[in-house]
Amino acid sequence: EMFGQLTSGLESAWKKLKGEEVLTKENIVEPMRDIRRALLEADVSLPVVRRFVQAVSDQAVGVGLIRGVKPDQQLVKIVNEELVKLMGGEVSELVFAKSGPTVILLAGLQGVGKTTVSAKLAYYLKKQGKSCMLVAGDVYRPAAIDQLVILGEQVDVPVYTEGTEVKPSEIARQGLTEAKKKKVDVVIVDTAGRLQIDKGMMDELKDVKRVLNPTEVLLVVDAMTGQEAAALVTTFNIEIGITGAILTKLDGDSRGGAALSVKEVSGKPIKLVGRGERMEDLEPFYPDRMAGRILGMGDVLSFVEKAQEVMQQEDAEELQKKIMSAKFDFNDFLKQTRSVARMGSMTRVLGMIPGMGKVTPAQVREAEKSLKIMEGMIEAMTPEEREKPELLAESPIRRKRIAQDSGKTEQQVSQLVAQLFQMRVRMKNLMGVMEGGSIPALSN
Ligand code: GDP
Repeated sequence: EMFGQLTSGLESAWKKLKGEEVLTKENIVEPMRDIRRALLEADVSLPVVRRFVQAVSDQAVGVGLIRGVKPDQQLVKIVNEELVKLMGGEVSELVFAKSGPTVILLAGLQGVGKTTVSAKLAYYLKKQGKSCMLVAGDVYRPAAIDQLVILGEQVDVPVYTEGTEVKPSEIARQGLTEAKKKKVDVVIVDTAGRLQIDKGMMDELKDVKRVLNPTEVLLVVDAMTGQEAAALVTTFNIEIGITGAILTKLDGDSRGGAALSVKEVSGKPIKLVGRGERMEDLEPFYPDRMAGRILGMGDVLSFVEKAQEVMQQEDAEELQKKIMSAKFDFNDFLKQTRSVARMGSMTRVLGMIPGMGKVTPAQVREAEKSLKIMEGMIEAMTPEEREKPELLAESPIRRKRIAQDSGKTEQQVSQLVAQLFQMRVRMKNLMGVMEGGSIPALSN
């Protein structure tokens, strides 16, 4: 599982909030400590961790109550949003030249997966309908040239080579000329890596870059190297100027530090990620999906969003006006009860996720059953009775009729009517307390 350790590290943070009613300055201290630890263990760089934890705590304390959403779920949501932001927010698309071939220069240390990425990228762009050409510029490893030729054949993309005797900048120049002659859409230039950064490599890259005037200069980094990857992106950007990074080996047991640190540390986005050795294992880097994977809680996130929506739609103005004028009727009652029931069934989904939700299936069934009973009775009411519950309060004959039509007892109907009036009273009391503010969460 990708970033499995980080995911379970964060899980212990949510667990500390079980049974809490709201997020407070005090009760987030421990969860924040867990988050901090989880990120450091994932090899995220320390300044990034500090800023992240600060941003999350600031928001957590200020967040209001959302009906039906538990504090641990709220914290998940905030962490998710901050993770997405940390990774650059939006997906960072490759840029293509407006005229002439798009030139993509690939740089990176030896063994990070640069040669593999060159061919993967050609394959990826070919699938988008672009014609490609590969240029073998890794002159220090004859095997790298052979490897690129083989991979090029595999993905059916021409590979331009001049062996190992020619200077990389010269190969780049010739390769580009060839690409223009062939009118290919994209030229991908593989370059020589070294075991470590050295001046020779940087000078060579600068030469190649000058010759190519590339549209994209992408640094290939290995996810297994954690925050070191982010440091490399920074260095290469300062030395030669890059447009982004490609993160490889995300399928291995990398801990997440690279994915989370690169953008924040270097200012440069991760544009693509490699997630395996096959040619098709290259994809855009989506910060939101990545955050979702790290949290492993897509369901919780959409639940919190839905709950917020329900609250916005149904609580706002409309209901407020009704309550102010004490006109809350059976139609509103039904709407209100249904929205709570909807959240009930979502809570059931949450119940399936380990460590989340404490509503038992039996409780949910019970709530759904009583909603069904109420619905039956409300449906047996005339439109006038729904709008004026007083009619039912005053007339046992009407209540008897409804009981008969819905197949319930008169006592059940009386209970329902009483419940509505109780709700009116409770809401009016709440309004009184609130001094014109918005409606607080109702206990349900
Ligand atoms: P280069 O020295 O940077 O050109 O690296 P190579 O392209 O030769 O790749 C080095 C090794 O990493 C090879 O065995 C590749 O198959 C492997 N590799 C590259 N990308 C990935 C990836 O995304 N996932 C995995 N698991 N292995 C990869």
